[in-house]
Parts: sequence; C-alpha cells; structure tokens
Amino acid sequence: MTDPTPLDYSQYTLLIVDDNPTNLGVLFDYLETFGFRILVAQDGESGLKRAHYAHPDLILLDVMMPGMDGFEMCRQLRTAEDTRDIPVIFMTALVNTEDKVRGLQAGAVDYVTKPIQQEEVLARITTHLRLRALTVGLQAANAEITRFNQELEAKVRQRTAELQRAYDQLERLHRKKTEFIAVISHELRTPMTILSAYSQMLVRAESVQADPTLTDIGKKVTHSFARLQEIVNALLEVAQIDNQELALNVQKVNLAELFQRVGEDYAQALQTRGLTLTRAGLETLPAIEADPQALAKVFDNLLSNAIKYTPDGGCITISGQQTAHETIPGEWVELVVADTGIGIEPGSLELIFTKFYYTNDIRLHSSGKTKFKGGGPGLGLTLARGLIEAHGGRIWAESLGHDEATCPGSRFYILLPLAAPPRLER
Ligand code: ADP
Repeated sequence: MTDPTPLDYSQYTLLIVDDNPTNLGVLFDYLETFGFRILVAQDGESGLKRAHYAHPDLILLDVMMPGMDGFEMCRQLRTAEDTRDIPVIFMTALVNTEDKVRGLQAGAVDYVTKPIQQEEVLARITTHLRLRALTVGLQAANAEITRFNQELEAKVRQRTAELQRAYDQLERLHRKKTEFIAVISHELRTPMTILSAYSQMLVRAESVQADPTLTDIGKKVTHSFARLQEIVNALLEVAQIDNQELALNVQKVNLAELFQRVGEDYAQALQTRGLTLTRAGLETLPAIEADPQALAKVFDNLLSNAIKYTPDGGCITISGQQTAHETIPGEWVELVVADTGIGIEPGSLELIFTKFYYTNDIRLHSSGKTKFKGGGPGLGLTLARGLIEAHGGRIWAESLGHDEATCPGSRFYILLPLAAPPRLER
C-alpha cells in the first residue's frame, strides 16, 4: 500500500493532560518539534475546561490523576456536545486488560502504555487524526446527503401536490365536459327525432313519391338524420359510460345470428367497396348472456371501421372460439374482427379507445360509415370498450403498424364471459 499523504501537523491542536510535569514536558518537547500546536493541563478539571475552550483535535490523557481521573474526564468529554467527537488516547501505566477495556468503554479511541515510546505515540496520533479527518469528511458527506434528500423529498412533496391539484382540475374539467356532452345530446335528441319523423313522413307523401328528384332528396335527408341520431346517441352513451350510468338488458344471445344481422346491414357497402366478409367458427359458439343491442353496437362499430380502413378489394374476417381467460376463471368466448387494411401504429393501439381520438386527417372525415378512411367523431371504439367492459369483458387491438402501401391490417379482439356479471338492468 502506498503511504498516505503526510499530515501537516501544524494544522492540529493537541491537548496533553498529565499530572506528572516531567511526562508533560517530554511529550510537549517531542511533539512540538513536528509543528503541533500543544495545550497542556495537569488535572482532569482544567483539562476539561481547556477542551471546551479550545476544542483540540486530539487529547492525550493520563489515566491516573488525583481528583478527576482520566476515565471520568473522558466520560464527561463524551457527554458534552462540543467535545464528544474529540478522539482521546489514554496514557496508562496499567497493563491489565480490564483497565484498557475500561478506558475504551469510557470513550477512548486508543491507548499507549507508559513509559511512552515517542514514535509510537506519534504514530497513534497520526492514525487517529487521519481517522478523524475521514470521519469528519464522511459526516459532512452524510449531512450533505441528508440535506439533499430532504430537499428532494420537499420537492417531490411539492410536485405531488401540484400534480394532485392539476389532476383535480382535470377531473373537474372532465366531469364538466361529460355533463356538457350529456346535456347537449339530450337537447339535440328531441328536435332531431321530430325532424327525422317529419322527413320520413315527407318521403312517404304521395306528391314526393311522384317526383323522383324529391324522393331521392328525401331519402338522403332521412339517411343523414339517421346518421346524426346515431352520433348523438353515441355521445350520450359515452357520457353514460363515463358517469357509470350504463345499464345492460341481459338475455341469451346467439352471436352467429347477431353477426349475421350486423353483416347484412353492410352488404351493400361491402359490395360497393369490393370487400369480402368471411365468418369462421361463429356457428359453434354457445349462446352467451349479454345485452344484444349493446353487442350489436360494438360489432357495428368494428365492422364499419374494418370497412372504412380497408382499401377496396380487401378482406374482413370475423371469427370466434370458446376460450379461457388468462386470470379470471370461467368460460369465455373470444371474437376477432380482422381486416387487411391500413393498420394502426403501435403508439395508437390504446389511444384509439379514448374519447374523440382519431388518427386520420380531420379534412378526410366524411359523413359516410363505409367510405375508405371516412373518419367519424372518434367515439365508436370508446363506446365499444365501455359496452364490452360493462359485460365484464375486454377489448383490445393488435396491428403490425400503419402503412397504406403494404396494408398490414388490424385485429380487434373481444373477450366476453359466457355469463355477464350481475349489473343494473335497464
Ligand atoms: P371513428 O369514428 O374515427 O371511426 P373510432 O373510435 O371507431 O372512431 O376509431 C378511432 C380511430 O381508430 C379511427 O379514427 C382510426 O384511426 C382507428 N381505427 C379504428 N379501427 C381501425 C381499423 N380497423 N383499421 C385501422 N384503423 C382503425
């Protein structure tokens, strides 16, 4: 091991306490030659006073002294805040182990035996001054770490409080937004129902039916009102999901029949767009306990999306199988709506289920539910997730990415329990 850097002894003050003036003199003379600043005392009481006054870096302390002996002085040094850390080396003529132990118990860091070997005492002083410097350094580092930790904790507390405030604010805004959506949808529903009824009456009117142009306009108006109603109803239902007000009307549902009906609604669009719809494994699925209207809405959205995001000539597959849930026991069905469309980038796979989220350019939005990339209001998947979760099920999407040239496709998975958990009936 390399020698540590030599100590600059002139930086240190030593206190020597010994009732024997000869011993004191010899030690004083020897240690002074190294440059130490040296204080002396001839008894415990004055030694203590010097220690409190001068705060020496180390004390050489005789054990046997009249009046207060070395043990007692050492104990008193240890009990006082300002002297407790000063290293004490006992100078003892006593050779028996019990006294050495007593000395160490009284708080000494070391001892030298009398008659004093000068080199030995210097070596011990040097060692303990070094140790003390290290300890002081460590204490300072510890104090710094503690202060740093406290500052950090205070900052974390402050940030947490700020975050909580921001979160509360967001919560309030979110509630307000949901309330607003619910109120607006309610307000819109009544005039829209009236307008829709009138438009249907108009289409049926003889004078309109006699005129092909009017009939065509009438059909378009009726169709647009129906779409408008669908959007407003979706808004209202999403608000109900947010407020946990959604209730299911549970009954036995045959999924193959349900898909058949939903598929039929899109027969025309599939034909126009040249898309193939294939079903697999649905006939063998057991009937499940669910709300058929709610499920029809979910599959309507998934199918409409598959049509919208698959270029002309692509394929859509709806498949189903009975399966097990990875954590929840019981019997489940897994349904998959897969397409050969433009796909979804990984970062959006979860976001697409959040309210009003859509990935495509808003300028490309069209009122149609089946035009290629004809985006809607971004409610379909939010509604689908809310409805599936109300059944105690799960819905998620998988895709290798978004690429309109290679069309990696998307797969929407739904897990539904065979028996819906008990919930509020509508
Ligand atoms: P939107 O009314 O826009 O269709 P959705 O909630 O149904 O709203 O869908 C949200 C977004 O998810 C869509 O804007 C679209 O970007 C993406 N998406 C949904 N289904 C598919 C799909 N089958 N293929 C590619 N992207 C899809």
